[in-house]
Amino acid sequence: MIRDMLQKFKDAMIRFLSGRYGSDKLNLALLGGALALMILGAVGRRSWLSVCSLLAYVPLIWSIFRMYSRNVEARRRENAAFLRFFSRLKDREHCYFHCPGCRQTVRVPRGRGKISIRCPKCGMQFIKKT
Ligand SMILES: [Zn+2]
Repeated sequence: MIRDMLQKFKDAMIRFLSGRYGSDKLNLALLGGALALMILGAVGRRSWLSVCSLLAYVPLIWSIFRMYSRNVEARRRENAAFLRFFSRLKDREHCYFHCPGCRQTVRVPRGRGKISIRCPKCGMQFIKKT
């Protein structure tokens, strides 16, 4: 009887979790952000910092939503955009520009002064300072 119920519960859990997205780097960052905000909110309980403990729900709920999402493709794209954003922040050797013709992102070496850039996608040339 109890064994039967447990089996049913297990089946239901497996059904519930199958096809869900799960966790990735973006979710870890969201959870880390939520934790940091909660700590800030707890430390500054009697000051304006206390709003942080409310703000912490935003990344928390977002990460839970992403984890249980069935739209795997959209979640993967979000994570890829997030990783790209961070690798650019860390990249001290290149500049990133958007091509004025087609919005394609173009990466060029940093510290070369004013250079003419040719978009690899549409061939448009534009001048930027690096
Ligand atoms: Zn272009």
